[in-house]
Amino acid sequence: MASYERSLEEQGLLIVLSGPSGVGKNSIIDALREEDPGRFHSVSMTTRPPRKDEQEGVSYYFTNKLHFEELIRKDKILEYDSYCGEYYGTPREPIERMTGQNVDILLDLTVKGALELKRNCPNAVIVFVTASTEEALRERLMNRGTESEDAIDKRLETAREEMTKIDLFDYWVINDLISEAANDVSAIIRAEKRRTLRFFVDECDL
Ligand code: 5GP
Repeated sequence: MASYERSLEEQGLLIVLSGPSGVGKNSIIDALREEDPGRFHSVSMTTRPPRKDEQEGVSYYFTNKLHFEELIRKDKILEYDSYCGEYYGTPREPIERMTGQNVDILLDLTVKGALELKRNCPNAVIVFVTASTEEALRERLMNRGTESEDAIDKRLETAREEMTKIDLFDYWVINDLISEAANDVSAIIRAEKRRTLRFFVDECDL
């Protein structure tokens, strides 16, 4: 006899964490993967130079602008954005391979990238993550120690712009404490898996 439970569980989710740089999206994703190692973190491609502790193929795929633009032309990038003068994008192939395999995919995208993905894949769940105040965000960026003061100002200016788009998102999570924010996203994932509507919406337009 067919199992209802299984057929409902067979689709993986695309879960996008978005919001200002430095807000802790990657730490939340790490906590979610610790909770369930079956979750897949999509590795993005970028033209910005690697930071000291970043590894090729783990943090990002690092490339140059010419190559990135060639991949855009060849339609190998699912969504991309130009952020602080550098390209950031999601390679299409791993997402195509993983969707349909009942794997939940976690992505960490700029606001523009998240909204572009949602347009192409209406089933994607987009979550806006913020710090509780702009001061808390500045402090996080400063503590990270990876950007100059000028670069931090630029990122905060972008953050102010990004905040105006919050009501286009499905959910809003405040990251004061990583474990609590990860619990919130985990609850969102569980609830989304129980959404009846999801099973009647067409697959995404990858
Ligand atoms: P960072 O330089 O701090 O690693 O990332 C800068 C911003 O780019 C962050 O807000 C991050 O969420 C975003 N980002 C990382 N990968 C991607 C991607 O593949 N696509 C888009 N649109 N944004 C990304």
